[in-house]
Amino acid sequence: MAGSGVFAPDFKPEPYWWEAYRPAAGELVDVPKAVRVAIVGGGYGGLATALELHRLGVDCVVLEAKELGHGASTRSGGAVSGGVNIGKSFTGKALDPESDRARGLLTDAADAFGTIERLIREENIDCFWQKSGRFSGAWTPKHYASQAKRVNLLNDAAASECYMLPRERQREEMASDYYYGGMVVDRAASLHPALYYKGLLDAVRRRGIPVCAMAPVERITGGDGGWTVRTGRGEVAASEVVIATNGYTGDVTPQLKRRVIPVASHIIATEELDPALAKSLIPKNRTLGDTKRVLTYYRMSPDGKRVVFGGRARFTAATPEVTAPALQAMMVARFPQLKGVRVTHCWTGNVAFTLDATPHMGRQDGMHYLLGCNGSGVAMMTYLGTQTARKIAKLANYNCHFESEDFPDHPMYSGNPWFLPAIGSWYRFRDNIDRAMAALG
Ligand SMILES: Cc1cc2nc3c(=O)[nH]c(=O)nc-3n(C[C@H](O)[C@H](O)[C@H](O)COP(=O)(O)OP(=O)(O)OC[C@H]3O[C@@H](n4cnc5c(N)ncnc54)[C@H](O)[C@@H]3O)c2cc1C
Repeated sequence: MAGSGVFAPDFKPEPYWWEAYRPAAGELVDVPKAVRVAIVGGGYGGLATALELHRLGVDCVVLEAKELGHGASTRSGGAVSGGVNIGKSFTGKALDPESDRARGLLTDAADAFGTIERLIREENIDCFWQKSGRFSGAWTPKHYASQAKRVNLLNDAAASECYMLPRERQREEMASDYYYGGMVVDRAASLHPALYYKGLLDAVRRRGIPVCAMAPVERITGGDGGWTVRTGRGEVAASEVVIATNGYTGDVTPQLKRRVIPVASHIIATEELDPALAKSLIPKNRTLGDTKRVLTYYRMSPDGKRVVFGGRARFTAATPEVTAPALQAMMVARFPQLKGVRVTHCWTGNVAFTLDATPHMGRQDGMHYLLGCNGSGVAMMTYLGTQTARKIAKLANYNCHFESEDFPDHPMYSGNPWFLPAIGSWYRFRDNIDRAMAALG
């Protein structure tokens, strides 16, 4: 595969981000016999929960099934926005964007942006944090009009600092006429996902919090009086359990598994570009995305030399032979000047969707959970971990709007997303029809 077709000779089927931090188990830390809080899952959510618990004087352990950073947290696009995408759900039900709940969620999402920014500053995390904003391209004029309707709400409730940019001015944001204009969000940022992960992990380790890699949680028994958490490397007794397994939630918590839909998302990184070309593509260095149902998201690498381009080339896991050419074609459709540019990395990760397209924290069967990033979990999972820790320590001075008793499930879904290929095809078909209609005027 390497050196053929779209693939550069040094192609690797793994995240570009792993060049800087590669998930590793490190020296294996023993699973302690007893702690106040056992956290299942060692991604951003689990680590942020641990950091805040420690700050509040509550001892805890992080239990991770695989190497540290194995999950989505070292695989993302690294775009950070202060607004949450409260979109259409798989069941067709959507939250009324004008409702009090939607406003509350947006306000908390804005707070999530502040939380991650503060954490990076306080912990001195060197992860290319750049507050250069975001541009979301409108796939059709109708989408442009719906984006425009949200501007006031996003500015009022989420302090997004956003405005609309018509198609005639689109080249201020990207060297392409591909979209029908779009929305600029100034209060948005980007980071290097694996270096942010490493920074959180270092912060947790500096405080002596045990982080146990290769310790898959196999069974959780007990209740409010106390829990026994059995891992592949021993048992721990805990007063509280936190589930932070997101798109990798498994059979240990079946009631949560049936509420989270793992959807594969795929990314490529290109070879280094000619410097003048690289500089011209996204002049303000924003993260880019669009309003398609099968959305794409892209940006320059932190050193400005490559394009990192993601999207749902498939809704399920697939090999780079399938996903890399598909993503490369999507990239060239947006930037024809990248024709012939080869791919050095291609990877996949699971994004956790929920049936109401909203992230959730709360309690299920007595266990705390933070789940369902819906594609914007870099800031959100950091935030929900922090909020969950405050709740456990009984020091929360605010009821987070992402905490609700209604974490929807569906009678047709028990954790096996058999319907995703069909949904993927349907969404692609609808996107194409919308675009064809737009072209006809
Ligand atoms: C390709 C891709 C692109 C993305 N792009 C963006 C983006 O640009 N911006 C953005 O904000 N978000 C993005 N996201 C989402 C973001 O990466 C995630 O929301 C976030 O990293 C989730 O963090 P987490 O800690 O909840 O989960 P994860 O990082 O997935 O960690 C969960 C961990 O739980 C572990 N686990 C599961 N079961 C067990 C068990 N039984 N015992 C022990 N451990 C267990 C898993 O091994 C895993 O390591 C993207 C995600 C993907 C996959």
